[in-house]
Amino acid sequence: MSINEKYELEKALEQITAIAKGYNLDFYDMYFEICPADILYTFGAYGMPTRFSHWSFGKAYHKMKTQYDYNLSRIYEMVINSDPCYAFLLEGNSLIQNKMVMAHVLAHCDFFKNNYYFQRTSRQMVESMSVAAQRIRQYEFAHGREKVESFLDSVISIQEHIDPYRDIGKNEPAIEKSESGGCCGGEGCGKGCGKDSCKDKGCEGGNCGHTHSEQESPYDDLWKLDHLGEGQESKDDTQKAKKFPKKPEKDLLLFIMEYGRDLEDWQRDIISIIREEMFYFWPQMQTKIMNEGWATYWHLRIMRDMDLTEEESLEFAKLHSGVIQSSKVRLNPYFLGLKLFEYIEKRWDEPGEEDRIKYGRPGGEGREKIFEIRELDNDISFLRNCLTEEFVEQEDIYLYKKVGYEWKIVEKDWQKVRDSLVASMVNSGFPYIVVQDGDYGKRGELYLHHAYEGAELDVYYLERTLPHVYKLWGRPVYLETVLDSKKVLFSYSGEKVSKKFV
Ligand SMILES: [Zn+2]
Repeated sequence: MSINEKYELEKALEQITAIAKGYNLDFYDMYFEICPADILYTFGAYGMPTRFSHWSFGKAYHKMKTQYDYNLSRIYEMVINSDPCYAFLLEGNSLIQNKMVMAHVLAHCDFFKNNYYFQRTSRQMVESMSVAAQRIRQYEFAHGREKVESFLDSVISIQEHIDPYRDIGKNEPAIEKSESGGCCGGEGCGKGCGKDSCKDKGCEGGNCGHTHSEQESPYDDLWKLDHLGEGQESKDDTQKAKKFPKKPEKDLLLFIMEYGRDLEDWQRDIISIIREEMFYFWPQMQTKIMNEGWATYWHLRIMRDMDLTEEESLEFAKLHSGVIQSSKVRLNPYFLGLKLFEYIEKRWDEPGEEDRIKYGRPGGEGREKIFEIRELDNDISFLRNCLTEEFVEQEDIYLYKKVGYEWKIVEKDWQKVRDSLVASMVNSGFPYIVVQDGDYGKRGELYLHHAYEGAELDVYYLERTLPHVYKLWGRPVYLETVLDSKKVLFSYSGEKVSKKFV
């Protein structure tokens, strides 16, 4: 990029920022960097410039970079939810492409800063990930690269199984170590969570028969039970009958981190790192349609307000139509989000008779309404509340599936389309699996339960994931689910995955 171009880009950024502020967009300080394609694609594959290394990121890089090299697709934007906010521009982009990206990412930053679901994310994740990556490198040095990588493979295979709502209503952040409660079990107690706070409270010697009242977890009773066989007497024999966990536990990573008996400290730390990263990425998965729709809505308006030459206007129009191009076979989040925000704005600006009389909407409140939605909603509530019959028909949204050798439209009824879309987004699209029993058969085995709501698990994937869970837990693992309307129990105890109907 020539010096002149950089200068022009800087001037454009000032203008774009002023226009965005004029529209009441509210973002952190922004830092832009211009990167060559291989750097930008590395960041894209890693999800963050400072993250630890893993072979799967290399795989993602090669896929994306090959598509770029063959001109099949390209990343235009890369923006990080942090304060200050970092955004990366592709060196090979034209000036107008980079102007559009700048306008687009300002709106993303406004969304990160103001949307409710991002309020609990760490804004210093660039630094945290860098520190975590250093720790993982040290573990590789100490325990061998293969061992660490193989452990990472297992943790990453179940990384989405956290509970993002676990601490809602509590003051501490979701990933605060204090949430684990109970006893640290320093080195002598075999639990090894490595909590410094615990050492301060005198359980350094591994005497874990007591619990810290201010840090009690739902599992403390079980922890006591766990030690009965070591010569301690139970004060209350009925405790033996207590369930472990008391309530089904959705946070599989946390459960294994806390109660996996054979894990070493470095392994618990790796689980904690991956879990913390997932908390950071989760709101982005929950708001993909809204966030892209919001950024597209604003880049369109900001670019319209810029002093563009005729040639630039034409180039921008082509670019923008490429971004929102709808597809017959997949939902484009840029398109759907943009159209829905525009539809809502219009409905609140010019309410129909029913909206005026029944809901008392005076009109002219469109902009206010979409700002309210960007603050309070996620994709599920956005679609469930705002997708109407009129909108589904207008945008021609339908469900399709493969029938024989052909793809066919199978549903156009707007409520079914809406409900199916919403259902596919529950738990960010991942199966809802809980720990039902952490001491199954009184043998310390792990019994997982899939909350089946119509979508079957991918058995191929399941059979490859269960051995990873076994590796983390260190004892046989079970997973109950439903296939062909029948309850099925999959299990793995070190040799091969078996299945039986229950
Ligand atoms: Zn975007």
